[in-house]
Amino acid sequence: MKEAVIDTSADGAQEPPLLDPKSEAEWDALRALGHQMVDDMLRHLCMRRREPAWQPLPPEVEEALSSPLPRSGQGATTAYLDFLDLILPYGLGNTHPRSWGWVNGTGTPVGMLADMLAAGLNANVSGFQQAPVLVERQVVRWLAEALGYAIDCGGLLVSGGSEAVLVGLVVGRNQASPDLRADGLQQIAAPLVVYTSTEAHSAIEKAVEITGIGRRFLRRLPVGKDYTLDVAALAHAIQDDLAAGLRPAVVVAAAGTVNTGAVDDLQAISALCRRHQLWLHVDGAFGALAAVSPRLRQRVPGLELADSLSFDLHKWMYLPYDIGCILVRDAELQRRAFASVPAYLAPTRRGVAAATVRPADMGVQLSRGFRALKVWLSLKAHGMDAFSQCIERNVAQAERLARRIATDGRLQLMAPVPLNVVCFRYLPDSALVQEACDQINREILEQLQESGAAVLSATQLQGNFCLRAAITNHRTTSADLEFLACEVVRLGDEVTRRGNRPAVLASPPP
Ligand SMILES: *Cc1c(COP(=O)(O)O)cnc(C)c1O
Repeated sequence: MKEAVIDTSADGAQEPPLLDPKSEAEWDALRALGHQMVDDMLRHLCMRRREPAWQPLPPEVEEALSSPLPRSGQGATTAYLDFLDLILPYGLGNTHPRSWGWVNGTGTPVGMLADMLAAGLNANVSGFQQAPVLVERQVVRWLAEALGYAIDCGGLLVSGGSEAVLVGLVVGRNQASPDLRADGLQQIAAPLVVYTSTEAHSAIEKAVEITGIGRRFLRRLPVGKDYTLDVAALAHAIQDDLAAGLRPAVVVAAAGTVNTGAVDDLQAISALCRRHQLWLHVDGAFGALAAVSPRLRQRVPGLELADSLSFDLHKWMYLPYDIGCILVRDAELQRRAFASVPAYLAPTRRGVAAATVRPADMGVQLSRGFRALKVWLSLKAHGMDAFSQCIERNVAQAERLARRIATDGRLQLMAPVPLNVVCFRYLPDSALVQEACDQINREILEQLQESGAAVLSATQLQGNFCLRAAITNHRTTSADLEFLACEVVRLGDEVTRRGNRPAVLASPPP
């Protein structure tokens, strides 16, 4: 009989660890490097304002980042120096106070540290008896409570808004026909139809494609002047599809569209959904977060009416990427859409695998990281009210910027500002033809980015090229936005006058 050998000695000499440090001295060296990394990153965040918001990628960096597979290692210190040289200065810029492009979050120092702890713990939050599963359940409840959603809902932390929309759409789709998990859409009696507005995010189109519904069965309905879904057009479309023998299944409404932050009339849409037994998914990627502020909740009324609600924590909750959330009012429907318990995952009576909440049964991933920790630690550290204040401040900043633009003769506000997104353009003279105006504004956008002054993005509204600032940035000050307005005018004047690049950049605010 062979004796089992359990080596508990510190110096298991025959098989030295390959990926862990090999000795106390090596652990000490790595610890020192780790401290250095923490110091460097915190200093980087603390000093971020003094650096350009974004810098173009130099060719040397592109070249270095296409080097071949390293077969042997250079050691953690040298690898870290490469990180400092090649990666740290050349990000998207979204940790900067003057980053307002697309909808990018800033990330928080506490969130960063929490991600380090989560990686150290290396929890697989699929299920089983472990505190991280309870942390995720607690965090999902906290978020539901903060948004005024049913706290006994089903919910899951996911990679972001796109995955959250996908999960919501799968649950909604599965209500439209009795055995979709077995049959797929192969045996469906009538094709399913999904409804949304022309302003809906591309993630919805993607989810409609992935779920097998198909883009031709996605109705992109018109919006009104305020860029919200035209509810009468929705009612008509549902009637038309019913008359044509199709099966209206899901409406995806927006609480904050990506272009302008428009909030669809969730109450009217919900009533229509109930009348026709349609699933209502609300895409609240950033807009839903307005509901955590008692003062702003009225700007996103009706979130609680959603059968499923998706939102991001890496946008307007400022947490590090990547983290989104899906809430489903009826937890059992969510479980039924995803649960799967093969023999190797079956619960045991006691021990690690004793029955528990199983996050893996609520979505796509089986093995899952500990995203919940950064939410849990941040909410305990700062409290929900601090996030609420940041969100209120961003809304106030967007409103001030909008007023500033509306009262400047050379700027034009291009859409209402219901939340934190401001679309505008430089327009020195209303007689300027559209093509010329578009071209000047494109040039302004690119010069702003290349000079490192600020990062905006762009969009088209009613065929016009617009500059777009989405303020999901807890580092932005009012002075930053005043600087933006001045700089857009200055660049615009210069581009118009000289038709080329300005020689010098105005100095940014301290
Ligand atoms: C960002 C966004 C999404 C997609 O979310 P990701 O986190 O980028 O996957 C969906 N809808 C809206 C309105 C968004 O702004």
